[in-house]
Amino acid sequence: TTDDLVHNLVANTAYLKAQQIDRNKLRKERLSLTLPRPDKSSVLQAAVGKKYESLCEQQPIGRKLFQQFLLASNPQYIAAAEFLEELNAWRFAENETIQMAKQRVLAKFFRPESKFFLSYLTGEYAKMCRDLTEKNLDEVVMEEMREATRDFLRGKPFLEYQKSPFFSRFLQWKEYEKQNISDKYFYEFRTLGKGGFGEVCAVQVKHTGQMYACKKLDKRRLKKKSGERLALVEKQILEKVSSLFIVNLAYAYDNKTHLCLVMDLMTGGDLKFHIYSLGARGIRLDRVVYYTAQITTGILHLHSMDIVYRDMKPENVLLDGKGQCRLSDLGLAVELSRGKTICQKAGTTGYMAPEVLRQEYYRTSVDWWALGCSIYEMVAARLPFKDFREKVQNEEVTRRTLEDECKYDHKLFDFPTKDIISRFLKKRVQHRLGCRGDDPRSHVFFKCINIHRLEAGLVDPPWVPKPNVVYAKDTDEFRDTSELKDIQLDAKDAKFFREFSTGAVPIRWQKEIIDSGMFDELNNVEPDAENRENTWK
Ligand code: ADP
Ligand code: MG
Ligand code: MG
Repeated sequence: TTDDLVHNLVANTAYLKAQQIDRNKLRKERLSLTLPRPDKSSVLQAAVGKKYESLCEQQPIGRKLFQQFLLASNPQYIAAAEFLEELNAWRFAENETIQMAKQRVLAKFFRPESKFFLSYLTGEYAKMCRDLTEKNLDEVVMEEMREATRDFLRGKPFLEYQKSPFFSRFLQWKEYEKQNISDKYFYEFRTLGKGGFGEVCAVQVKHTGQMYACKKLDKRRLKKKSGERLALVEKQILEKVSSLFIVNLAYAYDNKTHLCLVMDLMTGGDLKFHIYSLGARGIRLDRVVYYTAQITTGILHLHSMDIVYRDMKPENVLLDGKGQCRLSDLGLAVELSRGKTICQKAGTTGYMAPEVLRQEYYRTSVDWWALGCSIYEMVAARLPFKDFREKVQNEEVTRRTLEDECKYDHKLFDFPTKDIISRFLKKRVQHRLGCRGDDPRSHVFFKCINIHRLEAGLVDPPWVPKPNVVYAKDTDEFRDTSELKDIQLDAKDAKFFREFSTGAVPIRWQKEIIDSGMFDELNNVEPDAENRENTWK
């Protein structure tokens, strides 16, 4: 109807406009913000933990403050900080720039007359350092020097850092990070999709302008369908993983009616939408190769943490605004400690592996089967054992999956594509690609992709979403909740909701604070009297 059209147009316009961040408006909103006082209590110190890796490398704000500390200290510390920065730039340099980088690195860090000479290197490393030339300076040597530098920093510099005002400032940020999160923290925009327990909508953090997707799970619906434990598992797995190819969790909180998972906003739509709803069906082969490389990298990351995804399908792969993709919807994922297997039937019809359908014990093999089905679907706009919109019983899909050979239309599939799919679709696990400790990314299918650069997010996407298009179906607001009116929430539920609602996820939150410029704004403010005896820049 006209009303719906107008409604959708208004919703889309507001959503698209929010993505153009108005920096001045944000700065005004932030004028009244200050960092909380540093809480020196032992509770907080303990909560922060004492590990160098976490404090000075993994947490983005911690890393920044540690670096600022080094740069404000002595020449030796400054050299170490500069060297680590240089290594980061060097790691992904292309061949032409690498020669130049080598000369610069040698002159800057490895010659005693330079003011950035790495004078903290001792023993064997000092000797190695004297003998370095452009010829023998390679990645292996650089990695050894990085390790030597980290060993040095982990000692005296790290201890001094923890007594410095830079670390007090870090504790203030940690205190801020613990703030209570509620609906008031966000502006809300249009619905992006519907899930089993509620809808997913776009939201924006008021103070930073950062856009996210908020997956809302209806508390009573969860209780009615015994989905509470699953929701907690999904949240715990999401917060544990950290990969460019998996949707990251930024906040978990609840309100009166819903549990909310706030995640990276993927504005480019899901791959199912791209296969079936945008003109010509199917996806161009260069895009299929690119997406498959990213998906494979995401799956390998999950497997390396002993997590089986179990819901690999194009619908669960989402594109961001730049055209890179990530796995989402970890609602069926399970963590299986080393060597453990499981036989629970889980997944989506058409993507389930023979071992799942036969209710045999399985582990990570099921994800590679489902990836084979997904590549097939991206190319042919149908599944190997189920045609598009074919009305067919699950039993028949099961029978075909177990018995039939997959057929390939030679007009659609070239040799490498057909080959990789058929290796993923081996009915016996022992013969399947990815199931023998092998890396599927060495298959010729990926020959055009530099996997090392892809892992770092440095390979340009073959296709970029248009900034003024909303890649999601229009949605109707109505949802029947009458079936839920008898569900009562009790104290046990409340306890579970508290366990779920842990607020900001540190690494993601700290990145948001830095990216939005809020870190620089608040961090440059004079520290309070307590720290004034120490110099602060
Ligand atoms: P369910 O577990 O119920 O299947 P999903 O997590 O798959 O729910 O989310 C439902 C739909 O919401 C997805 O198919 C997608 O269209 C949309 N969606 C989910 N997460 C995001 C996100 N991070 N960014 C954009 N859209 C999303
Ligand atoms: Mg889903
Ligand atoms: Mg799910």
